[in-house]
Amino acid sequence: MYEAWLVIANPIRHRQVASIYAHMRYAEEKAMAEEMGMMYINQLVDIPIPNDLWVCDFCNSSIDTLQAINITTTIQDMELAKKDADAGLPISGGHALCGSCFQKSKNNNPEYWTRKIICGCCRTESNTTESEVLL
Ligand SMILES: [Zn+2]
Ligand SMILES: [Zn+2]
Repeated sequence: MYEAWLVIANPIRHRQVASIYAHMRYAEEKAMAEEMGMMYINQLVDIPIPNDLWVCDFCNSSIDTLQAINITTTIQDMELAKKDADAGLPISGGHALCGSCFQKSKNNNPEYWTRKIICGCCRTESNTTESEVLL
């Protein structure tokens, strides 16, 4: 398990893709959960949020979705995640940070921001070669 730095290069497009994947998995996961007697809620399907509404998980302020969003996340297998990203698949999960919380966290916990993955579903040629995406 690794603390990884996930960059959502195009937040609006990322939401659109994530929502498509969520709908694909929804019926299956709901049936499985109900079989185990659990209630199943999927945020992207049951509580539709606008694609351009991203909120900082640290301070609750809204994040500019026209720029890349930095997320701190735990990834089981970095190599696999990188392969998925290279295949154009969305990488999700973790805590989205606004620009100022990102800077603070980078100063206080630089170890969270050393292994970087740029999400596959919303990356462009230019941000795959960039060494750092700054907000
Ligand atoms: Zn994405
Ligand atoms: Zn914040």
